[in-house]
Amino acid sequence: MKLLIVNFHYIRDETYEGGIYPRTFSELSDQVDALSRHYEFIAPAELASMVAGDRKGGNFCLLTFDDGLKEQMAALELLQRKGVPAAFYVTTAPIRDNTVADVHKLHHIRSTVPDAHLYDFIGTRMDLSKVVYPENIDSLYRYDPPESKRLKYLLNFILTAAEKDRIVGMLFDEVADEEAYSKSLYMNTDDLRKLGSLDYLGVHGDAHLPLATLSEDGIRQDTEACMSFLQEHGGRNSLHSISYPFGGPKAVSQTVADISAGYGFSFGLTMFRGINEISDFDTPFLLKRVDTNDAPGGKSGSTEYCI
Ligand SMILES: [Zn+2]
Repeated sequence: MKLLIVNFHYIRDETYEGGIYPRTFSELSDQVDALSRHYEFIAPAELASMVAGDRKGGNFCLLTFDDGLKEQMAALELLQRKGVPAAFYVTTAPIRDNTVADVHKLHHIRSTVPDAHLYDFIGTRMDLSKVVYPENIDSLYRYDPPESKRLKYLLNFILTAAEKDRIVGMLFDEVADEEAYSKSLYMNTDDLRKLGSLDYLGVHGDAHLPLATLSEDGIRQDTEACMSFLQEHGGRNSLHSISYPFGGPKAVSQTVADISAGYGFSFGLTMFRGINEISDFDTPFLLKRVDTNDAPGGKSGSTEYCI
């Protein structure tokens, strides 16, 4: 048995200079066709029973959509026309409070303002004269122009989380109205009800935080806030799983996995790259997942997962 879990975020036909890198609806359709040549699609409930011991032979694929973006409801319709199931991992605070998660604020900023301007703006708010950029910055961000390299290094390694939040918040307020943008970007409670009725709904945190950086209490608070909102609006007993926000090594730890297991989910999804073998079911709260770009039919053109 092999299990490929593929992750999507933005699905839209607009294109941008940076910040937001969507797959178009026709690319999604083509990728589903490409994947279907190698894999049998499964729903989250089927994966839950496979993890529980209902093992069968074959190559399986679970499509996942993170963040609770409104446009994913149109992707759902496309998938339903093809008879393909999927899982939708929803971040709840933005829907409840009409706010925008920092990660989406930054995407929106970078899709509307050139990186060089952003770098200069940060320079008007903080002293950047003492920032030293590493010798290997070129290889760190291989495909970016120089100003984007500096901006990314600044955001990822120099600014503290609090400084970054403050700067991103200020920049976002310059380019958008938070409540209006939130209402256009995210699903609403009717969408959650629909996903719940299909049994496609999963947890993606309340505030979209890198859980491994929080205290155990913080992890619990964020996860429970998400669960209770999804159960209220999506129906009870329908949460099979969690997808950890960001999903990389800095966002996921054994503690995060253990706490999630304690809530009775069947599995947890990381962004640790790779295909899952039967042995990976021994650690179902650390399942591997690949980005749409690297999966068969993805932008990278990779054939690594064409098994
Ligand atoms: Zn996310």
